[in-house]
Amino acid sequence: MLTDGWFLLDGGAMFGVVPKTLWQARAPADEQNRILLGTNTLVVRDGKHTVVIETGVGNKFDAKMRAIYGAQQLLPSAFTAAGIKLTEVDTVINSHLHFDHAGWNTTLHPDGTVSPTFPNARYYAHRGEVEHGRLQLERDRASYFPTNYEPLIAGGQMTLLEGPQTILPGISVDVYPGHTAQMLAVFLDSGGRRACYISDLFPTSAHLDVAWACGYDLDPLTTIEQRKRFYARAIPEDWLVFFTHDHHAPFGYIALNDRGKPVLRAEPAK
Ligand SMILES: [Zn+2]
Repeated sequence: MLTDGWFLLDGGAMFGVVPKTLWQARAPADEQNRILLGTNTLVVRDGKHTVVIETGVGNKFDAKMRAIYGAQQLLPSAFTAAGIKLTEVDTVINSHLHFDHAGWNTTLHPDGTVSPTFPNARYYAHRGEVEHGRLQLERDRASYFPTNYEPLIAGGQMTLLEGPQTILPGISVDVYPGHTAQMLAVFLDSGGRRACYISDLFPTSAHLDVAWACGYDLDPLTTIEQRKRFYARAIPEDWLVFFTHDHHAPFGYIALNDRGKPVLRAEPAK
């Protein structure tokens, strides 16, 4: 797991209708009411393929936006530190196309041009995300930076998915709507066990209560239903779950505690 560094978002926005008196115990806010979030990129290698799931916030903010979000632009150096060349990556999967998930799909250069950060990769995203982003709606146009995907589509480097699909042997995606209408979860299956990059269905491990939906979710009622759908398999089957925005606990197993509440565990139940 690599990181583009932490960034800061309004705590109220991250926890929707949940009162601050409840969420601040799990996610302490700074003097501007912002909470610290991770930007977790998962790299999967099997000797044949190098697969990247999510690409962080990227380098397309101006100075003012960088100050607001505290974005750090660390992902390329994180690849260097891990000894993985950007040219080795052959597959990139975006769960959705918000800027904090697709930011390093492309790199902005000083002359204002962008180029693919992973020049030899095939990129995958849901077609509905591109169509939604192109609408540039008042509600969420700030989340969709066309330079994160349009050049890849124009260059024939991005495959637009219609729904659940196998990407490579053992790597597949399924649709979990709520945050956006077609947000994808990414499944990794190996040796009879499953790991899941769940993206913003659960942005952090502080969001495990099914009703603690994020204020950014386009349809929080659907989020609640999809969380129940997720738990119905993830808990009994002991899935290893990866969270995009949890800087402190980026992954773990979910179990029910004595009171029937979902909690994060470092170890599988069995
Ligand atoms: Zn996000």
